[in-house]
Amino acid sequence: MTTSYRAEGLPYPEDAPVSQALFDRAQAIVPGGVNSPVRAFRAVGGTPRFMAHGKGPWLTDADGRRYVDLVCSWGPLIHGHAHPEIVAAIQAAASLGTSFGTPTAGEVDLAEEIVRRTAVDEVRLVNSGTEATMTAIRLARGYTGRSKIVKFAGCYHGHVDALLAAAGSGVATLGLPDSPGVTGAAAGETIVLPYNDVAAVEQTFREQGGEIAAIITEAAAGNMGVVAPRDGFNQRIAEIAHAAGALLIVDEVMTGFRVSAGGWAGLDPVDADLFTFGKVMGGGLPAAAFGGRREIMSRLAPAGPVYQAGTLSGNPLACAAGLASLRLADDATYKRLDELSATVGALASDALTTAGVPHRLSFAGNMFSIFFTESEVVDYESAKTQDAGAFKGFFHAMLARGVYLPPSAFESWFVSTALDEQALEQIAAALPHAARAAAAGGAAA
Ligand SMILES: *Cc1c(COP(=O)(O)O)cnc(C)c1O
Repeated sequence: MTTSYRAEGLPYPEDAPVSQALFDRAQAIVPGGVNSPVRAFRAVGGTPRFMAHGKGPWLTDADGRRYVDLVCSWGPLIHGHAHPEIVAAIQAAASLGTSFGTPTAGEVDLAEEIVRRTAVDEVRLVNSGTEATMTAIRLARGYTGRSKIVKFAGCYHGHVDALLAAAGSGVATLGLPDSPGVTGAAAGETIVLPYNDVAAVEQTFREQGGEIAAIITEAAAGNMGVVAPRDGFNQRIAEIAHAAGALLIVDEVMTGFRVSAGGWAGLDPVDADLFTFGKVMGGGLPAAAFGGRREIMSRLAPAGPVYQAGTLSGNPLACAAGLASLRLADDATYKRLDELSATVGALASDALTTAGVPHRLSFAGNMFSIFFTESEVVDYESAKTQDAGAFKGFFHAMLARGVYLPPSAFESWFVSTALDEQALEQIAAALPHAARAAAAGGAAA
């Protein structure tokens, strides 16, 4: 069924009966039918595809349809799906036991690999990016004895209470919680500033510098669509923070080990005090980390008084997958990811230009996204000028022709080294239809 549609150049039918049946079952017992909100297709409409398996650049859904994957599990899968060496590493680890609640050699290996690739002196392994940023904030507060945090509108750092202010939905500037259940007290110590705006950071530090524990920023923003920091932005905010005795936390959960061997800091070094990592370093399993200067990290329990713990932290399977993934990621890998992202981005942009659709192609290393707007995008306000209706039509036309894009206009597209000629051809063949759908403002192509 799958191949016949594609072989004949026909789009997949609009309905996806097996995914729909699974979604119906899920919605009866899981809020919104999903275990993470953006999977639910709310921004684009339609039935979320339940994926059954992945291999290389391909995803196959429960209806047996095959897609080129440009989400890559939201970034982690730089080598594509089910890479044989990563699968073998996980199988070998599983056969030795899945969790011990004791230290293991794999944790030391993974921590050494992270320290070798980055500017951190010490690192602690956790299970998710949220845990990493949550603890980095606690550590910054514990270290400085101050309570306020500066974050940037449109930057997402996981669903940490204090960081769920202007984390993508636009309640900017006042530190208002974005979510019921986040108390004013938790979000009220959070100062939200426009991204890429050094003057706003300077002014805030003039007024409240003595109360600020840390600035947290995405190394390059990837959660309002992709918005790279302006030249020198990260370095300048490091200086401002340090001049006031505050710390800089650079969140590399998305960029870390994806955009270069050393993450965004490998391309654009910055004197940050703490870094957070996740996604790629888990090789597709749950693993994340935070690390930084020894003087700060040594305040962490049991070396110091700032508490942090985790039953499954440094899990042997996750460490094996992460280490295998990192060891496969050499200079050639990053060169290939750069080439592929440039190729896919240019194909998409050309198709949109041909169809007369205003857009901006925006890169940060090999992460990129397309904003359906004529305006330059430098922050969350300008990102929101885009036409979400155009994206909906674009997304569904790509899906129908076997290309799986992130189901939101405010997400990065991710490539893997597994993208081959056949996958690129499928993308190229889908794009003109999708561009015409975007031009029609969301109507089906
Ligand atoms: C994905 C992401 C997080 C959260 O990581 P989870 O593992 O989903 O908790 C934090 N920060 C950034 C920059 C991210 O992209």
